[in-house]
Amino acid sequence: MTQKPSVWLEFSPLAQATGSINLGQGFPDWAPPEFIQEAAAEAVRGNGFSSYARSPGHLPLVRAIASQYGKTLSMDISAEKQVLVTVGASEALYLALSTFVSRGDEVIVIEPAFDLYFGCLDWIGATVRSVPLVSDGEGSPSSSGEFQIDWQQLKTSLSPKTKAILINTPHNPTGKVLSQDEIEQLALHLRDYPDCMVISDEVYEPLVYDQKTHIPLASVEELRQKTLSIYSAGKMFSVTGWKIGWVIGPEELIFKMQMNQQWVVFSVATPLQQAVAEALTAALSPYQGFADYYSWLRQHYQDKRAHLMNSLKQAGLNPVAPEGSFFILSHCQDFDESFRKLPAGLETLYSEHGILYDDSKHHEIDYNVARNLSLAQRVTAIPVSAFVRGRNPGQGDWVRFAFCKSQDQLDEARVRLSQLRSS
Ligand code: PMP
Ligand code: GLN
Repeated sequence: MTQKPSVWLEFSPLAQATGSINLGQGFPDWAPPEFIQEAAAEAVRGNGFSSYARSPGHLPLVRAIASQYGKTLSMDISAEKQVLVTVGASEALYLALSTFVSRGDEVIVIEPAFDLYFGCLDWIGATVRSVPLVSDGEGSPSSSGEFQIDWQQLKTSLSPKTKAILINTPHNPTGKVLSQDEIEQLALHLRDYPDCMVISDEVYEPLVYDQKTHIPLASVEELRQKTLSIYSAGKMFSVTGWKIGWVIGPEELIFKMQMNQQWVVFSVATPLQQAVAEALTAALSPYQGFADYYSWLRQHYQDKRAHLMNSLKQAGLNPVAPEGSFFILSHCQDFDESFRKLPAGLETLYSEHGILYDDSKHHEIDYNVARNLSLAQRVTAIPVSAFVRGRNPGQGDWVRFAFCKSQDQLDEARVRLSQLRSS
């Protein structure tokens, strides 16, 4: 099967080529907390952690994970048997899907959805069953809470052929955070399909705002035995380049993944695992005037969310306030008509800078809005149709802005976006 260049291969290089403020790819651009930097620096010194790690995960890390998530998932977790450390959440997703889903199997994806899901499923040869998030309000949603799973569509998509459902809360790209009621409703729908497992991507777990709380799917009794919960140190400690993730789940499922991990990467970088293990404990101590690091992180992001929301509003857009994650959606209808067309000279620019792109996306409105934003405003966003596979009209007509960026970047983005009003 031929894979096309993903949205990331086009838009991060485009941001660079145009000198744009990159609010596209979601990576925090500030230094990680001192405590994790120190732990990593210490771990690479000498000879303590320079050899291969235990294949399913460095013991101090799996123990720290079992202890911490034992509390959040309200269950006893065996460090050795129920945890697997992976190369970021990306490898966790790939391993989960490739271990349990075979060619021709059906997998339900709630859309829009992080594009890696589709890439992995295409690779495996699985069939994607798309269930959309629909807006329940009048007109364009103002908060991610207005997006709801299309329960009717979920009901008709489930069948004995369904091997898995992929859930992402807090959600990329809408920012939706599933409520206890919604998770219980999901459990009810899955009750008649014992062969359908839940792959729950919870990488944005610490990033929830206002009065919202993140509810891990595995904390709901009925889902516990069928759920794989996936997390990432990248989001938690602003170390996306370290690529440390982990999966927690029932022993028999984790065992099968551990057996495949041997043949994929064997093990994950030992010193970085050691640093994350120490960070998971250090993060619980008071941090910069807050009760712990996670409370600081939430406030830090909440301030950035407010900043970018204001910038987008001042630019004449109607952004969707996210309840979680670090993304804000704006609808393409808010941009000038001229932004919807393929910018002149784009192909020449791409060939000069060696930028790869998917040529089937030439006429997608959101791709062109995002391209024009980079070229004219020098602010990069991500087109949301890259996150859509099903045929639900208008689902991809959004662009996504990331606010996991330092103050100077957000300030400059505000200035550049304000020119949208006069353009
Ligand atoms: N899941 C979601 C929803 C994401 O947005 C991302 C992007 N970072 C990942 C998984 C992959 O995480 P990692 O960088 O740890 O591989
Ligand atoms: N998860 C991040 C995003 O959605 C980064 C994507 C990636 O690196 N592939 O922006």
